[in-house]
Amino acid sequence: MLIAITTAGLLVSGHLFAESLPLQSVNKAGAVIDAAIEAHGGNDAITNLDTLVQTADIVNYATGQSRKPGPPYDQAALANQNAIGMQDEIFVTRNTGEGGGFVFDQGVIINGENSWQLDYRSGTAGPLLEPDFNTQSGPFIRVTPALLMKQLQARRNTSNWLGEAAIDGRPHDVITLVMETGPALGLYFDRESHMLTRMERVLPPFGQIEYEFLDYAMVDGIPFNRQFKLFVNGEENLVINIQSTVVNGPLDAYLKVPESLEKVAAIGPDPLSTQEIDEGVFLIGGNGTYALFVEMDDHVVAIGGTQTVPASIAEMRKVIADKPIRYGVLTHHHSDHVPGAAAYAAEGATIITFQENATVVREAAGSDDAKLEFVEDSMTLTDGSRSVVLYNIGPTPHAENILIAYLPDQGIIFEADHFPQPLNGVIPPAVPATVAFAAALDKLDLQYTKIVGAHSPRVASPADLKTALFRESAAATGSL
Ligand SMILES: [Zn+2]
Repeated sequence: MLIAITTAGLLVSGHLFAESLPLQSVNKAGAVIDAAIEAHGGNDAITNLDTLVQTADIVNYATGQSRKPGPPYDQAALANQNAIGMQDEIFVTRNTGEGGGFVFDQGVIINGENSWQLDYRSGTAGPLLEPDFNTQSGPFIRVTPALLMKQLQARRNTSNWLGEAAIDGRPHDVITLVMETGPALGLYFDRESHMLTRMERVLPPFGQIEYEFLDYAMVDGIPFNRQFKLFVNGEENLVINIQSTVVNGPLDAYLKVPESLEKVAAIGPDPLSTQEIDEGVFLIGGNGTYALFVEMDDHVVAIGGTQTVPASIAEMRKVIADKPIRYGVLTHHHSDHVPGAAAYAAEGATIITFQENATVVREAAGSDDAKLEFVEDSMTLTDGSRSVVLYNIGPTPHAENILIAYLPDQGIIFEADHFPQPLNGVIPPAVPATVAFAAALDKLDLQYTKIVGAHSPRVASPADLKTALFRESAAATGSL
């Protein structure tokens, strides 16, 4: 009998020795997670952590989003408030600030069927038709170690141990965390203190994002970092200084839509669409990014460089089957307005941009051989009968050089980042970039009836632009 038991024991341990690499990795991650949860307040404190409210001051370095293409980058100052309820899947956020020619004061309430998008500058609240707790709260969870511990607690079997690395001379264990949405995270835990000091993830097409958690202090038995830094491809991008932290307080006050806000039309998804703005002029895109395609006699002129471009080109082929894209026009150098360069280069099109942006554009095109043509003040693309005129309306508060496209015969203007328009509802008060845009249209004395943009499927009228400008001046004089 004894022998039989011993044999069985040997078999079991023999099986353990053959433990597969993935299993070893999960087990090792489990040990790191246990020690980390203990160091971050312990299993009970993390389990019982349900609601969290934090306020913070944020400095944003506008990497790839400054007025000029290269460093030093412009800075913007923001104030932020986040309130989360894990059990009830509640998330409320509000961001106030200015930068890049914009002024904003916006919020979101995610609370099941009572979810709202708030614009305090516009004075509007629109119901959200498809509220998504995971997507909305993800950015806050990712910068909050105690909430990351809750994620590790819930998803421990999906974490892998990646290896060890030294950060500032201190050995760290690196494990993975896969959240409900977004790419996998690499978490760095100090071997001695077991505190989360750093995190990384790769986010195409923007590159490597690094998170640093600094200056921990205890709040209700849980350590919270008082400072946070985010780097994009090694360059400092965000510094968050946390001003206040409240653990397990009530959230009711955050869920109410302020009475001062006017209720406007519901905000729903924005699927890929094709709009024929005029004969042979198509605005194609979705999810907040659009490009304009103008059909010429034997080719197409494409305007706009956002990430929609490949999908928009595919849609465009359904309405213009057989003409090549000869020109791909990039409005400006910002990181979300150059990804389209790769698709234009692949189409064999000439990319139109500014000399100052050549390095950024070649990099986005992924090829030194991409054909580039440079605009200075203006350029006219014409097939003899139909024309597209490009104007540099820079410098503006948004960019040193910025192109708009003007179709004189159709009275259409395409712009990027200067006249932000919601999908529907009230036209918001003008931001400084809008004021500069309107002044440029006046100075160029353009005759137009329609304004379309890189970030909205909405076709605006000259009256809409006037509304925005009037609301700005009215707000500035305090009469609204
Ligand atoms: Zn921009």
